[in-house]
Order: sequence, then structure tokens, then C-alpha cells
Amino acid sequence: MNSLDPSVSALSVWLALESPTHHTPGVNGMMDLVAGEVEGLPIAVERIPGRNGLGDSLILRAGLATGEPAIAVMSHLDTVHPVGTSAHDLPVRVEGDRLYGPGVYDMKGGAWLALQAFKQVALAGSAKRPLVFLFTPDEEIGSPTTRGLIEDIGRTSAAVLVTEPAREGGKIVTARKGVGRFEVRLEGRPAHSGARHADGRSAIREAAHQILAIEAMTDYARGVTTTVALMGGGTAANVIPQHAWFSVDLRVASAADGVALESQILALSPRDPDVRISVTGGMNRPPYEKSPEGAALFETARAIAAGIGFDLQDCAMTGGGSDGNFTAALGVPTLDGLGIDGEGAHTLSEYGLISSIAPRQALIKGLLETV
Ligand SMILES: [Zn+2]
Repeated sequence: MNSLDPSVSALSVWLALESPTHHTPGVNGMMDLVAGEVEGLPIAVERIPGRNGLGDSLILRAGLATGEPAIAVMSHLDTVHPVGTSAHDLPVRVEGDRLYGPGVYDMKGGAWLALQAFKQVALAGSAKRPLVFLFTPDEEIGSPTTRGLIEDIGRTSAAVLVTEPAREGGKIVTARKGVGRFEVRLEGRPAHSGARHADGRSAIREAAHQILAIEAMTDYARGVTTTVALMGGGTAANVIPQHAWFSVDLRVASAADGVALESQILALSPRDPDVRISVTGGMNRPPYEKSPEGAALFETARAIAAGIGFDLQDCAMTGGGSDGNFTAALGVPTLDGLGIDGEGAHTLSEYGLISSIAPRQALIKGLLETV
């Protein structure tokens, strides 16, 4: 494999078009590339205009129009890398088996190879069900404008295939933790820190107590983690701070823990009765637990992979959320991590393994023809 490999040159065009979530022209340009690629094929294209300043979504439909539950593929085309990343820090390039570029691993590589499989099956007419492919613009910020669309397609599907990156040497994902996001705001009473110290009620001191209490909710045995990763407050070094704020990231392994921890965090009460606390937020992505139906779908994928010549494994429940959380929580059998193998998601050393493109494309093709 080298840079003359047709897959590599075609995927490199996608990588060269930078599409961070908030750069709408880039994200919409990616949707144009997909729409252009299926022109003239037996694939219907529906484009849904973006909302809240974010990019458009694209739905491709093919296969039997029987009205029975579809098999759906889902890919996001936004990345976390700002415009200019490919010009400086992460140029699109091939080094041995590695294809580098912004978003190659998370998840343009997976979106691209799944689209090739989708096109092959649509052209051959070899699917047993209706086929749907959803491309979204906003996964990297929690899918605020596309969750409804993802769930609508999930509800009418027999199975959902998500092309997030493969894990640890090609493993796929069959369970993910749920994710909650909160913002805590505290308001105390300002005072001169020298002349009137006793009159002040420090919002930052109260925040310190609350942060320790929240971090103490972490319970590795139950798969619960809490992280305060952003904070701020105060106005000057000699003023008892009136205001403080911090963010909370929550991860849970079970839906029950999602409910319990969410209400615990929303109900935080101040230690100092003169400080007010307000908490906003909640669970964003529900946990994606491995159901018997999901396990059966994984066994189907395993058998298809064995026929292609590789041993497909799944990884232990991962802490990162994806759009697969939304469909799995509806009870729809969902396989995730079907995308390209590689490493370095969200970093400047992100790459995909060129040798993983063909077998994973064949796996998705097999799933589209089997399920
Ligand atoms: Zn992703």
C-alpha cells in the first residue's frame, strides 16, 4: 500500500477538507463530497439544513423499500481539529501503513470505508432490508441538533452500525458508558479581603468543598467517574470572591446510576448557608449497555469477519460516548467502533492504518447484506 492506492487518495481528499464542528462551510463541504459521490447511483439523497449555526445532515437511502425495519449506518463528519491543522501540525501524509490527517481515525476513515460498502451493496441490490446512512455534523459537541434524527432513524431500524474508530488492534465497541454534563454556579458575598474579611462569603471556598464532594462520587468498581475539569471565579486578588463556577463530567455504566448520580449532582446544597448554588445540566448520552440482541449482532459480525479472514473481538465497556449511545438506549441492537483502525483520536498524531480499510469495508458490506 502506498499513496497511489486509490482508497488512500480518495480518503485523502476528505481529510484535506477540514471540518471542525463549528466551521459550517467545512462540514457542509463534507456533505457535498458524500452527495457528489453517490450521484447517479441507486441511492436517494435527503439533505436536512443545519440548525443553530451548525452544518447540515445527510441521509442516504437504498435497498428494498418494503417498509420493514432498516439497517442503518451512522457517521459524523465533524472533527475536533481547528482549520489550519493540516497546514501546520497534522499534514495529510502517508508513512508506511499509516495515513495521517485531521479526523482520519475519528472518524472520516470509518465514514469513508462504510460509504464504499454502502455503495457496493446499493449497486448490487444485495441487501435484505432497506438501507439508511446518516451523516451528522455535530457529534464532537454531543450531537445537540441531531439527537432527534438519530433516534428517529434508530427507532425504525433493526440494527445500527456506527463507524467510530476501532479500538486496541481492531476491536469493535458493544458497550459505552453514559455521559452527563453539568455546570455549577456559586454566588457568595464580596468584601475587601483586608478590611472586611469577616463580612465576605467566598464562592470559591464553597466551590472547593463542592468539588471535593463531587470528585468523591467516583466509584471505579461501579464504573462511575466524576471530573471537575474547568473552573473559574473571583475578580481580584484582594476581594472575597462573590462568584465561582465549575463544570462536571459524569460517566456511568448503568442507566440506574445515571438517574441516581444526576439527581445527586442537581441537588448539591451549600455548606455555607450564605452561599447560593445553582446547578444546570444532566445526562447527555445514556449508557449503551450490551443487550442480548446486541450480543447476537456481534456474533453475526464475528462470523462475517471470520469469513473475510480476521478474528473480530469487542472491547470492555469504553468510557467515551458516541451517537451509538442514543440508539442502544432505545433497545436497538447497535455495533460501534466499526471504523478504521489506528490511534491518536483528538491529537496531532492521529492516524489510520491503511491495511485496515479493506477488511473493515468488507465487514460492513457483509453486515449490510446479512442482517
Ligand atoms: Zn468520533
